[in-house]
Amino acid sequence: MRADLDPTAHAEIVAIRKAWRFLGSWQKLAGATLYSSCEPCLLCSFVITQIGSNRVVFAARGTDVPTYKPMLDCDLTKAAAWVNAQPDWFHLEVVSDFMRERALEIINAFPWSQAQTRETVDRPRSIG
Ligand SMILES: [Zn+2]
Repeated sequence: MRADLDPTAHAEIVAIRKAWRFLGSWQKLAGATLYSSCEPCLLCSFVITQIGSNRVVFAARGTDVPTYKPMLDCDLTKAAAWVNAQPDWFHLEVVSDFMRERALEIINAFPWSQAQTRETVDRPRSIG
């Protein structure tokens, strides 16, 4: 995200962009299952519902991440409950805690104190 200078470059968004470009149209993403190492945030959850993905499988919960800040006190499970109550939205199934223990090991090994700084990340400039 920082290295790409793109605040929307969350793993889920990057995966959806790549799948869309590979398949050639967003309609082909309808019914797809998206796998994520962590519960998608509200930004990613909205995009997932708009493309018609009908299943999300994730490992760690948002609350497992030390820097987690839920917007509107919402998470994917709550968003899916709202989406599934709408008559004209794609149905969204949410499967949580898939390989969660392994995800927690990785999260706990991450240097969170360094990740919280707002220091500028210099990007190497390409030549030519
Ligand atoms: Zn996200």
